[in-house]
Parts: sequence; C-alpha cells; structure tokens
Amino acid sequence: MSYRISPLWWPVLALFSPILLPYLLVKNIRFRKNLQKSLEVNRERIEGAETLELPQLDHFELTVLVEHKTSPGFLGSPGVSYFIKTEQGSLLFDIGFGKETPALSENAGKLGFTIKDANALLISHLHPDHMGGFKAVRKMHITLPEEMGAASGQPCFMPGEADAEGFRAELVTKPRLLVAGIASTGPLVRSLFLMGWTEEQAIVARLKDKGLVVFTGCGHPTIETILQMVRQISDEPIYAVGGGLHFPITDSPFKKLGIKAQMIWGTGKPPWQRLTDEDLTRTIENLNAVAPRHVLLSAHDTCDHAIDRFRNELEAEVDVLKAGGTYVL
Ligand SMILES: [Zn+2]
Ligand SMILES: [Zn+2]
Repeated sequence: MSYRISPLWWPVLALFSPILLPYLLVKNIRFRKNLQKSLEVNRERIEGAETLELPQLDHFELTVLVEHKTSPGFLGSPGVSYFIKTEQGSLLFDIGFGKETPALSENAGKLGFTIKDANALLISHLHPDHMGGFKAVRKMHITLPEEMGAASGQPCFMPGEADAEGFRAELVTKPRLLVAGIASTGPLVRSLFLMGWTEEQAIVARLKDKGLVVFTGCGHPTIETILQMVRQISDEPIYAVGGGLHFPITDSPFKKLGIKAQMIWGTGKPPWQRLTDEDLTRTIENLNAVAPRHVLLSAHDTCDHAIDRFRNELEAEVDVLKAGGTYVL
C-alpha cells in the first residue's frame, strides 16, 4: 500500500498532533453535519428541477486544452480546460491552473486558441485545478494567461461568488440553458472534509438521434447524483459521459512535497479513510446501469489503476482525454 503522506512528514505530524487532533475533531463534526445537509440539499434541488428544452445538436466537438494526460508535444497539468464547439456556438469549460502552470497558455497557443474564440466561459467549481490556480481561489478572482488575449465581456457562468477579469460573471443557481445549445445541471453539492461545502455544476447537451452528453469537472457531487439531476432535466437517453470522476485510489495525479493531495482532499471521506476499489465497483455498476455508449475519462483526478478498471469493466467505449486531442461525439 502506497503512503499518501511521505514518512518524512511523520515526525512533523507527531510533533503537531496536540494541535492537529483537536483540529481534525472539529473539522469532522462540521464535515458530518454538512454531509447530512448536502444529501438533503441535492435531493431538494433534483426534485425541484424542471425539464429543460434542450435544442437538438448535430455537432458536439471538444478540444482538450488542459489535462493530466497529453498528446505528443502538449504539456500536462492535473487540471481541466476543455473548449467545446457546437453548431450553435462555443464554450470554454474551466481553465485548469490558469497562469500557475504553463500548460494552458502553451497548449492554447499550439492550438491557435484565444479567448475571443469562445462565446462564454464556465467554471465547474471553485477549486484551483479548475478556476485558475491557488491564487485565484485565495482571491476568488479568475484571470486568464495574457497569451490567451483579453475577454470582451463574455458571460462567465459560475456555481459560486467570484469575479472574472474581462467577463460578465453570472451565478448559476439551477439547471438552465447557457450558450451553444449547452445547459448547466446547476450546482450540486458535496461535503468535503478539508475543502468544505463544495458546489459544482456539470454541463449537458442533447445530440440529435443519439441522446445526452454530460461533462463534469472534478465530479465531486458523484456521477450518480449528477446523472440523477440530468434525468430530471431530460428523459432522453444518456449517450456519453465525460470529465473527472475523482477516483485517486492508488495514486494522486496532483502531488506536492511528498503528499498525494487528491487521495486526502476531495474524496468525500475523512483524511484517515481512503477511496477504495469497492467504491469504484459501485460507480462502475451504476454507470453500466445507465449504459452510456461513450465514456471520456479525465485522468486529472483519477489514478491509472482506476482508469484501467473503468476501461476493462465499463460496457461503454472508453477514451482517456488527452491535452491537444479533439473528440467529436
Ligand atoms: Zn479537479
Ligand atoms: Zn475539485
């Protein structure tokens, strides 16, 4: 079993345990309370959601600007940024670590992408690997790398309060159509031990003669909860599911200073518990019950072991998203 925190840290943890243990105890009380509340909030939001008139699209094309896995010649980063085009317009979905890693500006440059190409920006949730880095989270302020050009007042659809330089920030509070024939599920919630109450929105589009395409950011509310909301929005079959599903079981794509960060935070469990193969088995079974034709996995929050299991055990055609790749559904 691999260590999530390098043994080099253990004496430090032991030294600080008189502070750390009461801190974890208080955190755990809040986490448990939020856990109960999050289940109720999600249930209310799903039951209260109305059917959306989703336009039928002929074309849905997703180009990956940032991902952990890469096509040759592109830079990897454990964040997410996808540029989506339909015949009705375009949407930039998340901006990875933004300026904090070179991946977004370098890859966008290589693909000839500037922000002028997008009708809107959507931020799935306010975590550093999606909203543009740790500084962006600290200041709740979204900025693009200069190389991508300046935004010119396009909407930026967000699941929480933050501002976005050059964009018109719009808070999304429930399922609604956005741009390019693409809708948001509206925010759904997950109680996370270290990161707290987390609101995350996913996107949905309807492809003619095929069904619904659903893309997530980190997938914190769980894909099961997200798909329950999608079922409420539309009774079309689910054709494709893509994005992060958050299964860092044996490894963490984001590591720093000997700490496998994603195996500790963002799991929906206390830090002394791990995500397990049993958790993954449940999700694979639930996805197979929904029976999408395509699953396009993000490796930015999921380990290779989980990716292999998804590949082998899902009945869908499975792809792993790579920076620089274009996927037409
Ligand atoms: Zn993420
Ligand atoms: Zn996240």
